[in-house]
Amino acid sequence: MSRPLKPDNEEERLAALRSFDILDSDPERAFDDLVRIAAAICDVPMAAVTLIDRNRQWFKAQVGMDSPDPSLETSFCAHTILSPDTMTVVPDATRDARFADNPLVTAGNGIRFYAGAPLVTSDGFALGALCLVDAQPRQLEPFQLTALDALSRQVSQLLELRRVSRQLSHQLRERGWYEQQMQLYQDQLEQQNADLSEQTRTDVLTGLPNRRAFAAALQAAMHKAEESGEPLAVAVLDVDHFKTINDLHGHDEGDRVLVALADMLKSQSAGRGLAARYGGEEFVILMPGAKRDEAQLQCEYMRQSVGLLPIGLPVSVSIGLADRQRGDTAETMFRRADQALYEAKRNGRDRVVVAAA
Ligand code: GH3
Ligand code: MG
Ligand code: MG
Repeated sequence: MSRPLKPDNEEERLAALRSFDILDSDPERAFDDLVRIAAAICDVPMAAVTLIDRNRQWFKAQVGMDSPDPSLETSFCAHTILSPDTMTVVPDATRDARFADNPLVTAGNGIRFYAGAPLVTSDGFALGALCLVDAQPRQLEPFQLTALDALSRQVSQLLELRRVSRQLSHQLRERGWYEQQMQLYQDQLEQQNADLSEQTRTDVLTGLPNRRAFAAALQAAMHKAEESGEPLAVAVLDVDHFKTINDLHGHDEGDRVLVALADMLKSQSAGRGLAARYGGEEFVILMPGAKRDEAQLQCEYMRQSVGLLPIGLPVSVSIGLADRQRGDTAETMFRRADQALYEAKRNGRDRVVVAAA
């Protein structure tokens, strides 16, 4: 018995075989069908699609074989791949020097007939064979040889198709993964943007909406009040002699006062309006739905609450209040509230002044 030689391009051939990712894969109907057709047309009891690995013969599909032999030493197909351009036909193995003492031949009911058509890739690598086996010596008719040759090309074609479809589905899976990652990054970016925009609308020291956020809220409230005819009032609140508090007790203590004041304004306007830090020691309160006297009462209550803040310092505020008049814009209403605040300061501070209608 002559052991099959290794093809000259064995390493490249094995690399090509690996690229098909087919070794040890599950049976597939399409390969089984081609093997059955080959056996039927050529009228042999056994047929197979074999792939020649580095140290073994692996069967992708077979029919009629009790226990397909994975040994490379005894493999007929390992001989077939040595000539990728031609079929290997052995009419009677007992009369062929390469196979006469092959254990598969000498065994009881051993192989007599073998025909193998190499499975050649588009790059010219013979990966294995579509083979026919019989325990009887025999010859194939020319039409059967032609069919075997054609079917082997179908098997090769199927291998290529299988590889392409697996690569495609791999790429699709990868694309899905990339799209998922992109979505993740986008969500993170949007969250960061949302955080940033929140930061640009919030006063860092007190956590109240800042002047920018207040301006937008005032415009929106004005618009809504114009449409609904509901009342709207705005108050401007300024800490009295705050510079002195800073001078006497330090800037940090001043900050503590601002924070306590902001907390109080926040809780008192919660649910019915909006308190914002306008700048420095100046705050604004937007009171949608509040009539003039209701708004005045609310401001009065705030002013008194400031005196009761548990901050260990005597603090007072002056408040200017304006309610929406016919023909008012956000700017004109706010300006009247500001003027009322100045009047409160002029009149001695620690008081609420309502702007004239
Ligand atoms: P008036 O009663 O007329 O309002 O007197 P005032 O001292 O409160 O007014 P003035 O505008 O002279 O001073 C305001 C002070 O508020 C000056 C400034 O240093 C201080 N200030 C502004 N922002 C902050 C802040 O964030 N923290 C502290 N601690 N002080 C601030
Ligand atoms: Mg002040
Ligand atoms: Mg001020």
